[in-house]
Amino acid sequence: MKDKVKGKIVFMNKPMERTYKLTLRAYFENAGLRYRGSIEAAQLGAVAFLLRSLTTRDNDLCHTGGTARRDDADPIPAGSISTKDADLLSALLKKESNVNLFLKFNCKFLTDITSYNVIGQITGTEKPDEIIVVAGHLDSWDVSVGAHDGAGCVHSIEVLRLIKEAGLKPKRTIRAIMFMNEEWGGSGGKEYAQSENRKGETHIAAIESDLGGFMPLGFTVKANETQVASIQKWQYLFEDLGMHWIKPGWGGTDIESLEEYGTVTIGLIPDTQKYFDIHHTKIDVLEQVNPRELEFGAIAMTILSYVLAQEGI
Ligand SMILES: [Zn+2]
Repeated sequence: MKDKVKGKIVFMNKPMERTYKLTLRAYFENAGLRYRGSIEAAQLGAVAFLLRSLTTRDNDLCHTGGTARRDDADPIPAGSISTKDADLLSALLKKESNVNLFLKFNCKFLTDITSYNVIGQITGTEKPDEIIVVAGHLDSWDVSVGAHDGAGCVHSIEVLRLIKEAGLKPKRTIRAIMFMNEEWGGSGGKEYAQSENRKGETHIAAIESDLGGFMPLGFTVKANETQVASIQKWQYLFEDLGMHWIKPGWGGTDIESLEEYGTVTIGLIPDTQKYFDIHHTKIDVLEQVNPRELEFGAIAMTILSYVLAQEGI
């Protein structure tokens, strides 16, 4: 392998699996290639790494995303090309024995700067130090504003607004957090969980929305069986929204660090059939977000956070 790769550009052309009902499953299967691909190519002596964009669509869009690099070795240039370009390149490679590819990247690393999570809350009337978090993340990739990527922030702000507008007074604190830097190492989530400011606080549950502002389908819960069952008993509250399940699963990147403190983490799962058409591309813009679908997600988060604030787990 090393002989074949040395001095060459490694081109990873694995299409995202289209036969799965859940696009997220296909995404996670391929995301590791994007994350680790350039490191492994570099170890084999490659000079650059090129990835087929992570999407199930045939189009001309480039999808960005997190790519790891080793601290102890210089990274090689790594980038993605659209699915159409990947097919073109693949066909060319099959036909020609000596294909030359010219790569020009103009991206660069900037120095780290201090930034902040943005937090707002409705303080609980009876147990203010017991917290229910609702969350999204503020950052996305440079190619667009990340409208769907940031939908969780709108969901979380809406939770507070809807509760206020309804005149409800939650017993426990409902805290909306817009995390900073999910995409580049998740430092906002880690910093929040480890902060001195958490002293004296108990985080009962954290609900994250990070799969776009599409129609919500259900919730996944990362907790033990008893805790999952305790949340599943509220399932009937969501039937009217067209949400028919609450099941064990993953919570979310930004809230993951709270798990070691015993927090139950919960993911809002929308219909992601269209998410990976636009995820981390230049078309993740506001026009792509349907306000009605966005509202359904906010309502779902509001109901769950309020019921947990009243009843606990
Ligand atoms: Zn995101």
